[in-house]
Amino acid sequence: MILPKSNRLTPEQIAEVTAIVSEFGCSIQPIVGAVRTIYAIVGDERDELMINRLEGLTYVERIDRIQSPFKLMDRRSDLSSHRIKIGGVTFGEELAIIAGQCTIDPKNPNYFLDTAVAVKEAGANVIRGGVWKPRTNPYTFQGDSKSIEILMEASRLTGLPVDTEVMDEEQLQVALDAGVQMLQVGARNALNYSLLRSIGRAVAKRSTVVLLKRSLHMGSLSEFISAAEYIAAFGNPNIVLCPRGTAPALDGYRNQPDESITPLLKEKTWAPVVVDPSHSVGKASYVPACALAAIAYGADGLCIEAHVEPSHGIGDDPKQAVTPAVLAETIAQARQIWALRHSEVA
Ligand code: PEP
Ligand code: MN
Repeated sequence: MILPKSNRLTPEQIAEVTAIVSEFGCSIQPIVGAVRTIYAIVGDERDELMINRLEGLTYVERIDRIQSPFKLMDRRSDLSSHRIKIGGVTFGEELAIIAGQCTIDPKNPNYFLDTAVAVKEAGANVIRGGVWKPRTNPYTFQGDSKSIEILMEASRLTGLPVDTEVMDEEQLQVALDAGVQMLQVGARNALNYSLLRSIGRAVAKRSTVVLLKRSLHMGSLSEFISAAEYIAAFGNPNIVLCPRGTAPALDGYRNQPDESITPLLKEKTWAPVVVDPSHSVGKASYVPACALAAIAYGADGLCIEAHVEPSHGIGDDPKQAVTPAVLAETIAQARQIWALRHSEVA
């Protein structure tokens, strides 16, 4: 990793460092932070001669070599001071709430628009809404590209950014062209490396934030963080990790709640952690407890399914979505736990 003395290298300086590293079979990838750009050396960066030549350049502050499978996402990386902002919140500085429907119903757009307004009033910072849905059963509603209009209408109506899941390059392009500010990688695609690469490439020059869910079968912490590294390696470090429950172990919960992974993630990566209690427990009445537990474990935010009239929802909403009133109560309590944890740390 090359850390320049100034906030970024000039084109001439980039050309010079590129020429040096290419002699050693490496290339340079700029990682654009809010203030400062740093430069990852892609390839085997262990050659002492290459490092010495780079360190000898007057405009280079230092070269960091992190021996980690996820050198950008690692807690010891120079990106650890990178702050991710969306919807008026900076992750880590205040509790971030993503809320809204599982699935947008294109036949009843008003439900989604009403939900968007209601979750904003309840305290959400980002509106979520599924345009395309990964459904286990191929005969159930799979989403509809037309819902992207409804999603963006909700963004205009509330003035809040929106989050939606993309599962392939076509959907990715539609979402980016429409101006979606947060892209979700779902649990089923969390280890789809081609998709992770496509998203990394597509968001490289944008301020888009990626919400990366934990896969149902994702075992180790490294596997989760390395999936984020795939995206970051293209230059956009705005990645938020989202535990959402793993393969079910208890009769009663849809998945095995995994909010307790939060402190372990935080030991290894600087990436913010936003827990999704809705897909973890899979039932609206269990969601508040799981949400509060997540904040107690140190999560930076929550991603919660909510609907103005859950029984009229589609996809997961009839079972999982909380009402705006429950959402507001959960957010208020989560803020209290968040404040307790943060005053303790201060
Ligand atoms: C969703 O967010 O509605 C969803 C399908 O999520 P997951 O990928 O976690 O199942
Ligand atoms: Mn859902």
